[in-house]
Amino acid sequence: MPNLTRTLALIKPDAFERRLTGKIVDAALDAGLTIVAMKSVNLNRAQAEAFYAVHRERPFFDSLVAFMTSGTIVAMVLEGGTAVPAWRDAMGATDPADAAPGTIRRRFAESIERNCCHGSDSDANAAIEIGCFFSGEELLR
Ligand code: UDP
Ligand code: MG
Repeated sequence: MPNLTRTLALIKPDAFERRLTGKIVDAALDAGLTIVAMKSVNLNRAQAEAFYAVHRERPFFDSLVAFMTSGTIVAMVLEGGTAVPAWRDAMGATDPADAAPGTIRRRFAESIERNCCHGSDSDANAAIEIGCFFSGEELLR
């Protein structure tokens, strides 16, 4: 049995409202990732600010928080051999103009902000981010 790792994935409000959830879930499954937990959530301002605290000093922070609280998101915990890079590869680059053909952001994203999805950037951050959305009990399997 290989070691399994986990990442947090979010389907952002732009994608949820455009009814792209199924296509993005399919992209995760096609990347060989397994869904450990999934739910829809409406973030409040404090939750969005805490989740993106690392970007607090960036010029796009206020706009990003407004965007992430503008509608429903879907939070997922994805599992695989190397879940963090596998999901980031499936998403593509942050700016859809730079994202590789076939990636989620290249296929669907409207802008660098409204880029459809989030993925953790390290195993350590994945553990922290998963804890923002899911209790330990929701992660048992
Ligand atoms: N973002 C933005 N403008 C930028 C850079 C990022 O609006 O110039 C938003 C975008 O939604 C991105 C999120 O902030 O997904 C977090 O940025 P990060 O650099 O962590 O990109 P990611 O890890 O999501 O690819
Ligand atoms: Mg990031």
